[in-house]
Amino acid sequence: MRGSSHLAIGLITGVAVAYLVPGIPVSPAGIALAGFSSLAPDLDHPGSRLSKRLGFTQQYVRWAFVVVAAGLALYTHFQLPPGPDRRMGFTAALAFGLIGAAMQGDSTRKLALLFTGLSTLVAGLYTEFVWLSMLGLFVSVAPFTSHRSWTHTIWATALWTYIGHLADRSLGWHGVALFAGSGYVSHLLADTLTKAGVKWFMPLTDFTLKLPLIRTGSKSGNFLEVAICLGYGAAVLALIIGTLSL
Ligand SMILES: [Zn+2]
Repeated sequence: MRGSSHLAIGLITGVAVAYLVPGIPVSPAGIALAGFSSLAPDLDHPGSRLSKRLGFTQQYVRWAFVVVAAGLALYTHFQLPPGPDRRMGFTAALAFGLIGAAMQGDSTRKLALLFTGLSTLVAGLYTEFVWLSMLGLFVSVAPFTSHRSWTHTIWATALWTYIGHLADRSLGWHGVALFAGSGYVSHLLADTLTKAGVKWFMPLTDFTLKLPLIRTGSKSGNFLEVAICLGYGAAVLALIIGTLSL
């Protein structure tokens, strides 16, 4: 599945969490975090050849992330009062900047991610935010694992959600774990719909779970991805309207 589809599904999932889960505040930063998390498993993506398939070769997509990062940072700076929301807003802005940095050719990408990941790790140690260090470690190690292996497992999902849980506790921003975890798992579910499938429980078992509807990169595959995003978005919208009118 292409990165743009993953992002769309992650953002819709974020909207669903924000509006449908009781007790979770509706926040743009949370929705953005779910979007970021939906891209994280593909930090392991190898080559420039494959990044074409991801739909990230266009410069404008990279710039879109930079613009979103800047927009979030400005929104946070001018609109949010000091407190947990503000800290989370800046964190989400950092996340989008990271993704922008990740959209490069093969070797540059690995180095860029290693560098930003390790900087994040050090920043986490310096500020004594364990979750920030763990996030940095994840970002720096993931590009060196083979594609659709470690980052595409239930264990990585659990780790990502745990990082969110720690961030939740240290930032006091309720719902981080849920936004992060649901965004991450939306990626694995979406990849399960492709021909390659997902080895959810690797290395316990190499069993590949797949509902092979989509051949990534093919015309019909691209069409199906758009259809799935639209259908998913419509379903979530209908549910939200349903609960709002209650
Ligand atoms: Zn993937």
